[in-house]
Amino acid sequence: MIGNKTLAVPGPTNMPSRIAQSMAIPLEDHRAPDFPDFVTPLLADLKKVFRTETGRVLVFPGSGTGGWEAALRNTLSAGDGVLASSFGQFSDLWVQMCRQLDLNVTCFDQTWGRATPLDSYRQALEADSRHSIKAVLVCHNETATGVTSDVAAVRAMLNDLDHPALLFVDGVSSIGSIEFNMDQWGVDVAVSGSQKGFMLPTGLAIVGVSEKVLYQIKNVSLRPGDTYLGCGYFDFTHMATANDNGYFPYTPAATLLRGLRTSVDMLLEEGLDNVFARHHRLAEGVRRAVTAWGLRTCAETADIHSDTVTAIRVADGTNANDVIQAAYHNYGVSLGAGLSKVAGKVFRIGHLGWLNEAMVLQALGGAELAMRDAGIPFEAGSGVGAAVMHFTSPQKQVLMAAE
Ligand SMILES: *Cc1c(COP(=O)(O)O)cnc(C)c1O
Repeated sequence: MIGNKTLAVPGPTNMPSRIAQSMAIPLEDHRAPDFPDFVTPLLADLKKVFRTETGRVLVFPGSGTGGWEAALRNTLSAGDGVLASSFGQFSDLWVQMCRQLDLNVTCFDQTWGRATPLDSYRQALEADSRHSIKAVLVCHNETATGVTSDVAAVRAMLNDLDHPALLFVDGVSSIGSIEFNMDQWGVDVAVSGSQKGFMLPTGLAIVGVSEKVLYQIKNVSLRPGDTYLGCGYFDFTHMATANDNGYFPYTPAATLLRGLRTSVDMLLEEGLDNVFARHHRLAEGVRRAVTAWGLRTCAETADIHSDTVTAIRVADGTNANDVIQAAYHNYGVSLGAGLSKVAGKVFRIGHLGWLNEAMVLQALGGAELAMRDAGIPFEAGSGVGAAVMHFTSPQKQVLMAAE
């Protein structure tokens, strides 16, 4: 294949050369006397990305899935109640993990394309007068369907009902890309990974942990008869204690941490609000394209559209995998596949991380070429044209002048 490959999947995302260069360094001694001079400010600045002042951010070698496990094992006991919802591949896998760990899951299965069901959550919490639900799970951005859930509303509900359950959020494809406010939303554990909004290779589980959780782990003894799930590798207390001195309890992925330093610098230099606005602008361009093609998003309503990934439904009788195959083989463009229940029914365009308008147009143009090859009916150029019009609208010019 001649030419660059185009990465238009929702993770891994495009890695800026500035980040790549910051990792192209000799391996280093993670017990060096001056290692804390690097670690301590990095962990402090990471808190800004999670928007937490009272909590802390722990970085484990691993990936987002490891972060899910860390959240559960550090805080819960076998048999504890967990309230969750399954509405896509990622929300569902976290539920499956809860079941594997012998947690007592109340799960609301939703049609894929819908968001966390607030009404069902409220009913379950209201009915739980004995507070056997110890944790409430929210997949903030369901990457399989391109759906964003309302985390703030779940926190408001817990407060309103005076329910003490912890709030755990999967922010793997949202943190650092779309608005996420750990403190303001009272999130107790926020899970992310390195290869999405952080624009890094895979290899880190980046986990925000609230003050309340750290206090609870240290000070609240287990109820008699409880079997604490327990945590070896992902133990929050071990990690936090070592981090207090600027070190890690075992060999950290130091090279990735150097990249993370640059990633955090880039996010904070652009300004988080500008990062979020850019993702919204780019996402809206993709959505205009989908409409112009005469297709629908997997997300059922506009209020839950994700600003980091769009899952596009193809018409019945056509196969989205044909589009993905043609895009990859004929043009070197990687589009995201439909996972599990929506396999063959959707293809996905990831629009998060290190991305501008022209890169989005490359993905949309690649999708148009591939849809032609796959025999999907649409007017060639319509989606690209709609996105171009959106990206050059007067509103955009005002934004640029203000920058
Ligand atoms: C990618 C992703 C995960 C899984 O993370 P891994 O890094 O693949 O372990 C979990 N949740 C969401 C929402 C994701 O997008």
